[in-house]
Amino acid sequence: MNNMEKGKLLVISGPSGAGKSTVISRLMALRDDLCFSVSVTTRPPRPGEVEGKDYFFVTTQHFQELASGGYLLEHAEYVGNSYGTPRGYVEQRRLEGKSVILDIEVQGAGQIQRNCPDAVSVFILPPSGEELERRLRHRNTDSDEKIRERLLQAKRECAEAGRYGYIVVNDDPDEAARELDAIMTAEKCRAADRLNLVTEVLIS
Ligand code: ADP
Ligand code: 5GP
Repeated sequence: MNNMEKGKLLVISGPSGAGKSTVISRLMALRDDLCFSVSVTTRPPRPGEVEGKDYFFVTTQHFQELASGGYLLEHAEYVGNSYGTPRGYVEQRRLEGKSVILDIEVQGAGQIQRNCPDAVSVFILPPSGEELERRLRHRNTDSDEKIRERLLQAKRECAEAGRYGYIVVNDDPDEAARELDAIMTAEKCRAADRLNLVTEVLIS
């Protein structure tokens, strides 16, 4: 394998509670060529969330400065808070050959698809609406009102699933992680990314 191959950009979306974080952490345990992009957000931390691991928690003013200064690869508003992807981290890690995972909502994913057409995009779907609600309530991190807002938002988001390259249903999280693993493996075998290997064979 050519060490200079640029890492992939893996965009994961899906309604809050679909199990994106759960499946991403299982995927990362399966592969050593991945790293996770920690987003900036104006949302307050949930109990147990760690600054710099789950998010960089910033003020609205700081967020606006990052966005207007071009420091974010994409950004969007979701249920009253702003979220964005730090550009520098993503670009640096990809140049080092690592594939970078973004866990982002659909508007941000649309911006990435427009600006980085080689990005791999996967929509994580819960097995049903009832199961999504059960997971959100069981996670116990949001008020009833926030859960209602997130369920409404979930319907709007699922309607966008066809814009993604792949859809993975998260019924069994290990199976979902295996499917993502297979997608990444296949994406890394794309002929367009490997023509340099053909040239090496031809000239040797
Ligand atoms: P998201 O990152 O999409 O908001 P989480 O990974 O936080 O979702 O998962 C939401 C809740 O559902 C968590 O309590 C998690 O443990 C649970 N969960 C995730 N995947 C599954 C699954 N396949 N089956 C049952 N529960 C799950
Ligand atoms: P949560 O508040 O549940 O952590 O995240 C809410 C939503 O924001 C999720 O759909 C998550 O994927 C999305 N999100 C997290 N970080 C980013 C980001 O950097 N950009 C965008 N556009 N969405 C994000």
